[in-house]
Amino acid sequence: MILSEIPNILSNSLKEISQPLSNKLINEINTDTRNITENDIFLALKGDKFDGHLFAEKAIDKGAIALILNHKISVNSTKKIPQIIVKDTLIAYQEIANWWRNKVKIPIIGITGSVGKTTTKELISAVLGVYGKVHKTQANYNNEIGVPKTLLAITTSDDYAVIEMAMRARGEIALLSQIACPTIGIITNVGTAHIGRLGSREAIAEAKCELLAEMPTDSIAILNHDDQRLMETAAKVWQGKTITYGLEGGDITGKVLENQILRVKGMDFPLPLPGRHNALNYLAALAVTQQLNLDWHPLIQGVTVNLPQGRSQQYSLENDIILLDETYNAGLESMKAALQLLKDTPGKRHLAVLGTMKELGDASAQLHQEVGETAETLGIDGLYILVDDPEAQAIAQGVKTVETECFPTHEQLIQRLTEIIKPGDRILFKASNSVGLNRVVEAVHNVI
Ligand code: ATP
Repeated sequence: MILSEIPNILSNSLKEISQPLSNKLINEINTDTRNITENDIFLALKGDKFDGHLFAEKAIDKGAIALILNHKISVNSTKKIPQIIVKDTLIAYQEIANWWRNKVKIPIIGITGSVGKTTTKELISAVLGVYGKVHKTQANYNNEIGVPKTLLAITTSDDYAVIEMAMRARGEIALLSQIACPTIGIITNVGTAHIGRLGSREAIAEAKCELLAEMPTDSIAILNHDDQRLMETAAKVWQGKTITYGLEGGDITGKVLENQILRVKGMDFPLPLPGRHNALNYLAALAVTQQLNLDWHPLIQGVTVNLPQGRSQQYSLENDIILLDETYNAGLESMKAALQLLKDTPGKRHLAVLGTMKELGDASAQLHQEVGETAETLGIDGLYILVDDPEAQAIAQGVKTVETECFPTHEQLIQRLTEIIKPGDRILFKASNSVGLNRVVEAVHNVI
């Protein structure tokens, strides 16, 4: 990207430029002065807690070649660099990202959904990595700032980009879809995350389907066939090409065999992550490769996926004890998936250590109760609930026969677990991240 190209790229939001722009090659459009390097442009974002304009001087000192700002600033630095004044720097950032996305012309795979976005992104990235160079969302750069950042980091040597898109409210996915213009748009499912804010599952489904409504019409939708609400809502907003995947049916469907093998169209694929829900996520990855005309045979060898801490992690301890660490996050759907995974993990006893699912609003008590009911239906052998928040108590209300104990503190829970855990146990740990069940996993890991 050349500095003098910027006014054309920003034609909709440009107000004025303080001095002529050179033809220098831009290294990066950078929003953080802590990692500015020579030939970057510094784009000052203004948030509730910070104002990037206050750091512009530092950007100049570190070698920035221009500033993109909401308003002119006076600088003490002897090195006067162009100030590009726009109506809104965040919109400008998104416009440049969109321009770059269209320039690189590689397939962009956009992913949203209530649960499984990160996991599916990692699976698709691992699978596409067999065929070429993949650029993917890092950390949680999945919002109105993170998606542009991710797009701008695509290089001309990348073959594919896999972009995660998250939301908290209506209209957010629409914006991200407009910026990223996915070649392929995937919706993993419609669940109950953010139901407190959005009001109903229908509203959540509509918000997720904004991805499709805003995609280019020649893009391809890849949708979870097993999620009926998603399929119905998607059909209302998307008339373009659609490929479905699912364990219950769909264009790309499969059967999970023993030893984590997924059989699809007569071919056997080793699953890199445990659980039926991850088999479903893997089917989405197969659907992507099929739509990109990639031959599935190299995938028979298997791929490796390393998820961030607290997601699909298993620790094998002495005496054949296995801890299933799912402490990164929890909502109704991922709780159900994790309990199913626990039950499907062969072992003597299946114990679940659970805590609060946050941000569920008015539906909270009922959804917590549903978790207890699921544990009951699956025949879990023992439930240990951290009631750091009264909401978690409702899990116990969904249970009649499963042995259940509640603990007000992490310490009491840890103490009890060290007393009851026996050889051959399989123990699941799951709650919202802020509950801090990871501390319990760590303590049990150290003691047992
Ligand atoms: P977040 O937005 O909170 O980062 P996410 O949508 O990126 O969530 P992941 O981080 O991939 O989702 O997974 C969150 C939890 O959901 C994990 O515990 C994971 O095991 C579980 N999970 C992953 N895929 C599915 C699925 N298809 N159905 C149900 N649960 C799933």
